[in-house]
Amino acid sequence: MSGSERRVAVVSGANRGIGKEIARQLAEKGLHVILTARRESLGREACAEMQNDGLSVSFFPLDVTSDESVASLAGYLRREFGRLDVLVNNAGVALDKWVPALEGTMEQFLMTYETNVFGVLRMCRALIPIMREGGYGRVINLSSNLGSMEKIGGRTIAYRTSKTAVNAITRVIAAELTGGDILVNSMCPGWVKTELGGADAPRTPEEAADTAIWLATLPPGGPTGGFFQDRKPFPL
Ligand code: NAP
Repeated sequence: MSGSERRVAVVSGANRGIGKEIARQLAEKGLHVILTARRESLGREACAEMQNDGLSVSFFPLDVTSDESVASLAGYLRREFGRLDVLVNNAGVALDKWVPALEGTMEQFLMTYETNVFGVLRMCRALIPIMREGGYGRVINLSSNLGSMEKIGGRTIAYRTSKTAVNAITRVIAAELTGGDILVNSMCPGWVKTELGGADAPRTPEEAADTAIWLATLPPGGPTGGFFQDRKPFPL
């Protein structure tokens, strides 16, 4: 197993949107970033863009809905880097935006959960063991304030409840990892101008990445099991 001097970060769904910007900002902080994407050509393009800017970034194909794909990433990390310091579970889909709860399809529900919920769980199960070996880790799960039980409203049931589940998964895993220096948190990036957020969203991906970078660089003893927006706790 070869080693890496630099801290190593993995970002899922990093070919565009918030994930791409988080990857860039982590690399700008001096980490080596594994930029992952399910569509290889787009992932390689985003990676080349950052490499051309002198950043330490490599590409690995990743579909978070596939056990095989996630296992292959874990093998690559062990083989090539021997460590994982930061995991950003960013990949997500919103397939039932503003659809009434009783009108969406079960296919929308299943695919939303497969990506947003089981994708996060699958990544944590495969990759946190690598963090444990190094005794250090920062896990950031991209959630949404639409999933906050305190504020939850009608429509978009699959997406909303998938993010409620992400917040719960974050808590459960964090609770099991106490006593070490592995901190697991979820966050809402706000309403962001991306393919998912749409053109009317007020925030840029650059602004949205701020809380993720903050969570990725928390000092020992920092918060764990929390849900944050704009670096502040958000009601679960
Ligand atoms: P986006 O522009 O639609 O990007 C989503 C990314 O996830 C894309 O790279 C997409 O890849 C990838 N992805 C989807 N399914 C995948 C899979 N099975 N395996 C690997 N990658 C997959 O969305 P975004 O706005 O940047 O959202 C990023 C995260 O922030 C999501 O978790 C989202 O729920 C959350 N969020 C966004 C907003 C917002 O306003 N934008 C608000 C709250 C929370 P492809 O390009 O191949 O589709």
